[in-house]
Amino acid sequence: MTALKIILAVDDEPGYLEVIKFEYSGKGFTIFSARNADDALAVLKRESIDLVITDMKMPGKDGLDLVIQIRKTLPDLPIIIMTGYAMEDRLKRVLEFKRTVHIHKPFDLDKLGATVSQLLSEEKLLS
Ligand SMILES: [Mg+2]
Repeated sequence: MTALKIILAVDDEPGYLEVIKFEYSGKGFTIFSARNADDALAVLKRESIDLVITDMKMPGKDGLDLVIQIRKTLPDLPIIIMTGYAMEDRLKRVLEFKRTVHIHKPFDLDKLGATVSQLLSEEKLLS
């Protein structure tokens, strides 16, 4: 796992944020968290984030709205969308953005870790 990267985790359920924070701070990542899309966008303006892990279903703007908003200014930022629901057309369209993937909730941390590593190693190859 690439060290010293900064992850933004977004979820309306604090339990997921805790799990991600515990897992990745232990691996040398810096973790910011947000409970909704607007707070996430505020963090993205303020901090230099390397990767976003966002829930899909959230009150207010959902994770897909968040991805669409992020892509207006940050086309290359790796984003992982966590979803517990069947693939819907809106999700399929959002996944057409580059470096945008999804994993099913509940996920195991190995699967999430493999996805994070893959996205960040692609970034290294690009830079
Ligand atoms: Mg949710």
